[in-house]
Amino acid sequence: MQKKEKIYEGKAKIIYSTDDPDHLILYYKDDATAFDNTKKGTIVDKGIMNNAISSKIFQLLSQNRIPNHFVEKLSDREMGVKKLQMLPVEVLVRNVVAGSLAKRYGMEEGTPLKRTILEFCYKDDSLHDPQCNEDHLLVFGWCTDQELINIKNYSLRVNDFLVGFFDSLGIRLIDFKLEFGRFKGDLLLADEITPDGCRLWDKKTGEKLDKDRFRRDLGGVEEAYKIVYEKVLNS
Ligand code: ADP
Ligand code: UDP
Repeated sequence: MQKKEKIYEGKAKIIYSTDDPDHLILYYKDDATAFDNTKKGTIVDKGIMNNAISSKIFQLLSQNRIPNHFVEKLSDREMGVKKLQMLPVEVLVRNVVAGSLAKRYGMEEGTPLKRTILEFCYKDDSLHDPQCNEDHLLVFGWCTDQELINIKNYSLRVNDFLVGFFDSLGIRLIDFKLEFGRFKGDLLLADEITPDGCRLWDKKTGEKLDKDRFRRDLGGVEEAYKIVYEKVLNS
Protein backbone atom coordinates (compact mmCIF):
# COMPACT_ATOMS: atom_id res chain seq x y z
CA MET A 1 0.00 0.00 0.00
CA GLN A 2 1.74 3.18 -1.19
CA LYS A 3 0.92 6.44 0.61
CA LYS A 4 -0.25 9.25 -1.71
CA GLU A 5 -1.69 12.59 -0.67
CA LYS A 6 -3.19 13.79 2.60
CA ILE A 7 -6.95 14.01 2.11
CA TYR A 8 -8.22 14.87 5.63
CA GLU A 9 -6.88 15.84 9.02
CA GLY A 10 -9.12 15.14 11.98
CA LYS A 11 -8.71 15.62 15.70
CA ALA A 12 -6.84 12.35 16.29
CA LYS A 13 -5.89 11.03 12.86
CA ILE A 14 -4.78 12.06 9.36
CA ILE A 15 -6.15 10.24 6.32
CA TYR A 16 -4.00 9.59 3.24
CA SER A 17 -5.06 8.20 -0.11
CA THR A 18 -3.04 5.29 -1.49
CA ASP A 19 -2.16 3.76 -4.86
CA ASP A 20 -5.26 1.56 -4.42
CA PRO A 21 -8.55 3.48 -4.78
CA ASP A 22 -10.19 1.05 -2.33
CA HIS A 23 -7.66 1.68 0.43
CA LEU A 24 -6.70 4.52 2.78
CA ILE A 25 -3.99 5.01 5.36
CA LEU A 26 -4.96 6.25 8.83
CA TYR A 27 -2.08 8.03 10.59
CA TYR A 28 -2.55 8.19 14.37
CA LYS A 29 -1.50 11.49 15.97
CA ASP A 30 -0.62 12.30 19.60
CA ASP A 31 -3.17 15.15 19.64
CA ALA A 32 -5.97 14.89 22.16
CA THR A 33 -9.14 16.95 22.35
CA ALA A 34 -12.11 16.98 24.69
CA PHE A 35 -15.27 18.91 25.51
CA ASP A 36 -16.17 19.72 21.94
CA ASN A 37 -12.62 20.65 20.97
CA THR A 38 -12.34 23.32 23.69
CA LYS A 39 -9.65 21.36 25.55
CA LYS A 40 -6.62 20.50 23.48
CA GLY A 41 -3.38 18.74 24.35
CA THR A 42 -0.86 16.08 23.51
CA ILE A 43 -0.53 12.61 24.92
CA VAL A 44 3.02 11.50 24.23
CA ASP A 45 3.15 8.39 21.99
CA LYS A 46 -0.66 8.07 22.03
CA GLY A 47 -0.64 7.60 18.24
CA ILE A 48 1.77 4.68 18.47
CA MET A 49 -0.13 3.03 21.32
CA ASN A 50 -3.59 3.60 19.78
CA ASN A 51 -2.52 2.27 16.38
CA ALA A 52 -1.18 -0.88 18.01
CA ILE A 53 -4.22 -1.34 20.28
CA SER A 54 -6.71 -0.72 17.46
CA SER A 55 -4.87 -2.98 15.01
CA LYS A 56 -4.83 -5.84 17.49
CA ILE A 57 -8.51 -5.41 18.37
CA PHE A 58 -9.65 -5.22 14.73
CA GLN A 59 -7.71 -8.41 13.98
CA LEU A 60 -9.41 -10.15 16.90
CA LEU A 61 -12.80 -8.85 15.72
CA SER A 62 -12.10 -10.21 12.21
CA GLN A 63 -11.35 -13.61 13.76
CA ASN A 64 -14.72 -13.30 15.49
CA ARG A 65 -16.38 -12.63 12.13
CA ILE A 66 -17.22 -9.00 12.81
CA PRO A 67 -16.72 -7.27 9.45
CA ASN A 68 -14.39 -4.28 9.74
CA HIS A 69 -12.19 -1.96 7.71
CA PHE A 70 -8.79 -3.17 8.94
CA VAL A 71 -6.36 -4.32 6.25
CA GLU A 72 -2.90 -4.18 7.85
CA LYS A 73 -0.71 -2.32 10.31
CA LEU A 74 1.82 -0.53 8.14
CA SER A 75 4.07 1.20 10.67
CA ASP A 76 4.12 2.53 14.23
CA ARG A 77 1.50 5.15 13.46
CA GLU A 78 -0.09 3.95 10.23
CA MET A 79 -2.93 1.54 9.61
CA GLY A 80 -4.10 0.45 6.14
CA VAL A 81 -7.89 0.31 5.92
CA LYS A 82 -10.63 -0.12 3.36
CA LYS A 83 -11.92 3.21 2.10
CA LEU A 84 -15.49 3.49 3.36
CA GLN A 85 -18.35 5.82 2.81
CA MET A 86 -18.79 6.69 6.47
CA LEU A 87 -22.25 6.92 8.04
CA PRO A 88 -22.58 10.25 9.91
CA VAL A 89 -23.38 8.37 13.07
CA GLU A 90 -21.63 7.53 16.33
CA VAL A 91 -22.89 4.54 18.28
CA LEU A 92 -22.32 4.69 22.03
CA VAL A 93 -22.39 1.31 23.74
CA ARG A 94 -22.82 1.42 27.51
CA ASN A 95 -22.49 -1.26 30.18
CA VAL A 96 -22.07 0.99 33.24
CA VAL A 97 -23.31 4.53 33.98
CA ALA A 98 -20.59 7.12 33.23
CA GLY A 99 -19.87 10.42 31.51
CA SER A 100 -22.74 12.17 29.76
CA LEU A 101 -25.23 9.44 30.75
CA ALA A 102 -24.53 10.06 34.45
CA LYS A 103 -24.83 13.81 33.95
CA ARG A 104 -28.01 13.71 31.82
CA TYR A 105 -30.01 11.54 34.22
CA GLY A 106 -28.33 12.54 37.49
CA MET A 107 -27.04 9.03 38.10
CA GLU A 108 -23.95 7.91 39.89
CA GLU A 109 -20.95 6.96 37.78
CA GLY A 110 -20.12 3.30 38.15
CA THR A 111 -23.70 2.02 38.49
CA PRO A 112 -23.94 -1.18 36.40
CA LEU A 113 -26.74 -1.25 33.81
CA LYS A 114 -29.03 -4.28 33.88
CA ARG A 115 -28.52 -4.59 30.14
CA THR A 116 -26.43 -2.84 27.51
CA ILE A 117 -27.72 0.53 26.29
CA LEU A 118 -27.08 1.67 22.72
CA GLU A 119 -27.24 5.40 22.00
CA PHE A 120 -26.76 7.26 18.72
CA CYS A 121 -25.31 10.66 17.86
CA TYR A 122 -25.33 12.55 14.58
CA LYS A 123 -21.63 13.06 13.78
CA ASP A 124 -21.31 16.77 13.02
CA ASP A 125 -18.78 18.86 14.95
CA SER A 126 -20.51 22.15 14.03
CA LEU A 127 -23.71 20.87 15.67
CA HIS A 128 -21.78 19.34 18.61
CA ASP A 129 -22.69 15.75 17.66
CA PRO A 130 -26.32 15.88 18.85
CA GLN A 131 -27.86 12.77 20.30
CA CYS A 132 -30.50 11.13 18.10
CA ASN A 133 -32.67 8.04 17.98
CA GLU A 134 -33.34 5.25 15.51
CA ASP A 135 -36.15 7.22 13.81
CA HIS A 136 -33.78 10.13 13.12
CA LEU A 137 -31.26 7.73 11.55
CA LEU A 138 -33.91 6.30 9.23
CA VAL A 139 -36.05 9.38 8.50
CA PHE A 140 -33.03 11.60 7.77
CA GLY A 141 -31.52 8.84 5.61
CA TRP A 142 -28.32 8.44 7.63
CA CYS A 143 -28.68 4.66 7.26
CA THR A 144 -31.11 2.14 5.81
CA ASP A 145 -33.38 -0.19 7.79
CA GLN A 146 -31.07 -3.13 7.11
CA GLU A 147 -28.00 -1.10 8.05
CA LEU A 148 -29.62 -0.15 11.37
CA ILE A 149 -30.29 -3.83 12.08
CA ASN A 150 -26.63 -4.60 11.31
CA ILE A 151 -25.33 -1.62 13.33
CA LYS A 152 -27.21 -2.80 16.42
CA ASN A 153 -26.29 -6.42 15.93
CA TYR A 154 -22.58 -5.72 15.32
CA SER A 155 -22.40 -3.21 18.18
CA LEU A 156 -23.75 -5.76 20.67
CA ARG A 157 -21.46 -8.48 19.29
CA VAL A 158 -18.44 -6.16 19.51
CA ASN A 159 -19.47 -5.38 23.08
CA ASP A 160 -19.80 -9.06 24.03
CA PHE A 161 -16.37 -9.75 22.61
CA LEU A 162 -14.67 -6.68 24.12
CA VAL A 163 -16.20 -7.10 27.60
CA GLY A 164 -14.71 -10.61 27.77
CA PHE A 165 -11.42 -9.56 26.18
CA PHE A 166 -10.81 -6.64 28.56
CA ASP A 167 -12.06 -8.68 31.53
CA SER A 168 -9.34 -11.23 30.78
CA LEU A 169 -6.85 -8.34 31.02
CA GLY A 170 -8.19 -7.19 34.40
CA ILE A 171 -10.08 -4.25 32.89
CA ARG A 172 -13.81 -3.32 33.02
CA LEU A 173 -15.24 -2.00 29.77
CA ILE A 174 -17.60 0.74 30.92
CA ASP A 175 -18.65 2.25 27.58
CA PHE A 176 -17.29 2.98 24.10
CA LYS A 177 -18.00 4.62 20.76
CA LEU A 178 -18.20 2.90 17.36
CA GLU A 179 -18.41 4.20 13.79
CA PHE A 180 -19.54 2.34 10.69
CA GLY A 181 -19.27 2.80 6.93
CA ARG A 182 -20.24 1.23 3.60
CA PHE A 183 -17.88 -0.71 1.38
CA LYS A 184 -19.16 -2.21 -1.89
CA GLY A 185 -22.63 -2.77 -0.43
CA ASP A 186 -21.48 -4.12 2.94
CA LEU A 187 -21.63 -2.42 6.33
CA LEU A 188 -18.23 -2.48 8.05
CA LEU A 189 -17.04 -1.39 11.49
CA ALA A 190 -14.53 1.45 11.07
CA ASP A 191 -12.45 4.13 12.77
CA GLU A 192 -10.61 3.05 15.95
CA ILE A 193 -11.10 1.13 19.18
CA THR A 194 -8.72 2.69 21.72
CA PRO A 195 -8.66 4.36 25.15
CA ASP A 196 -9.59 7.59 23.31
CA GLY A 197 -13.09 6.26 22.66
CA CYS A 198 -13.57 3.68 25.42
CA ARG A 199 -13.92 3.99 29.18
CA LEU A 200 -11.68 1.37 30.74
CA TRP A 201 -11.43 0.92 34.50
CA ASP A 202 -8.98 -1.29 36.38
CA LYS A 203 -11.08 -4.22 37.66
CA LYS A 204 -9.46 -4.27 41.11
CA THR A 205 -8.73 -0.62 41.88
CA GLY A 206 -11.30 1.15 39.70
CA GLU A 207 -8.51 3.36 38.35
CA LYS A 208 -9.42 5.04 35.06
CA LEU A 209 -7.23 3.87 32.17
CA ASP A 210 -8.62 6.03 29.36
CA LYS A 211 -9.11 9.55 28.01
CA ASP A 212 -11.02 10.61 31.13
CA ARG A 213 -7.56 11.06 32.72
CA PHE A 214 -6.95 13.79 30.13
CA ARG A 215 -10.51 15.19 30.16
CA ARG A 216 -10.61 15.46 33.95
CA ASP A 217 -6.93 16.41 34.54
CA LEU A 218 -6.34 13.30 36.63
CA GLY A 219 -2.64 13.04 35.71
CA GLY A 220 -0.85 9.86 34.65
CA VAL A 221 -2.42 9.98 31.18
CA GLU A 222 0.48 8.42 29.25
CA GLU A 223 0.96 5.84 32.00
CA ALA A 224 -2.69 4.77 31.77
CA TYR A 225 -2.55 4.38 27.97
CA LYS A 226 0.68 2.42 28.39
CA ILE A 227 -0.96 -0.02 30.81
CA VAL A 228 -3.74 -0.72 28.29
CA TYR A 229 -1.24 -0.90 25.42
CA GLU A 230 0.98 -3.42 27.19
CA LYS A 231 -1.91 -5.58 28.36
CA VAL A 232 -3.53 -5.64 24.90
CA LEU A 233 -0.28 -6.26 23.04
CA ASN A 234 0.81 -9.04 25.43
CA SER A 235 -2.58 -10.78 25.31
P1 ADP B 1 -12.58 13.34 13.64
O1 ADP B 1 -12.87 13.36 12.17
O2 ADP B 1 -13.83 13.08 14.44
O3 ADP B 1 -11.80 14.51 14.12
P2 ADP B 1 -10.28 11.50 13.55
O4 ADP B 1 -9.22 12.51 13.74
O5 ADP B 1 -10.14 10.19 14.23
O6 ADP B 1 -11.74 12.01 13.94
O7 ADP B 1 -10.36 11.29 11.98
C1 ADP B 1 -10.58 10.09 11.37
C2 ADP B 1 -11.75 10.23 10.42
O8 ADP B 1 -11.72 9.13 9.54
C3 ADP B 1 -13.08 10.19 11.13
O9 ADP B 1 -13.87 11.26 10.70
C4 ADP B 1 -13.69 8.85 10.73
O10 ADP B 1 -15.09 8.93 10.59
C5 ADP B 1 -13.02 8.57 9.41
N1 ADP B 1 -12.78 7.17 9.09
C6 ADP B 1 -12.46 6.17 9.93
N2 ADP B 1 -12.30 5.01 9.29
C7 ADP B 1 -12.51 5.27 7.97
C8 ADP B 1 -12.50 4.48 6.76
N3 ADP B 1 -12.21 3.18 6.80
N4 ADP B 1 -12.81 5.08 5.60
C9 ADP B 1 -13.10 6.41 5.56
N5 ADP B 1 -13.11 7.21 6.64
C10 ADP B 1 -12.83 6.65 7.82
N1 UDP C 1 -17.09 8.98 22.87
C1 UDP C 1 -16.20 9.20 21.84
N2 UDP C 1 -16.41 10.26 21.01
C2 UDP C 1 -17.46 11.09 21.14
C3 UDP C 1 -18.37 10.87 22.19
C4 UDP C 1 -18.16 9.80 23.04
O1 UDP C 1 -15.24 8.46 21.68
O2 UDP C 1 -17.59 12.04 20.33
C5 UDP C 1 -16.88 7.85 23.78
C6 UDP C 1 -16.34 8.27 25.13
O3 UDP C 1 -14.93 8.16 25.16
C7 UDP C 1 -16.98 7.26 26.08
C8 UDP C 1 -18.29 6.87 25.40
O4 UDP C 1 -18.14 7.24 24.02
O5 UDP C 1 -16.16 6.11 26.17
C9 UDP C 1 -19.51 7.53 26.00
O6 UDP C 1 -19.30 8.91 25.97
P1 UDP C 1 -20.13 10.00 26.79
O7 UDP C 1 -21.31 10.38 26.01
O8 UDP C 1 -20.33 9.57 28.19
O9 UDP C 1 -19.02 11.10 26.66
P2 UDP C 1 -18.56 12.34 27.46
O10 UDP C 1 -19.49 13.42 27.00
O11 UDP C 1 -18.63 12.04 28.91
O12 UDP C 1 -17.15 12.44 26.93
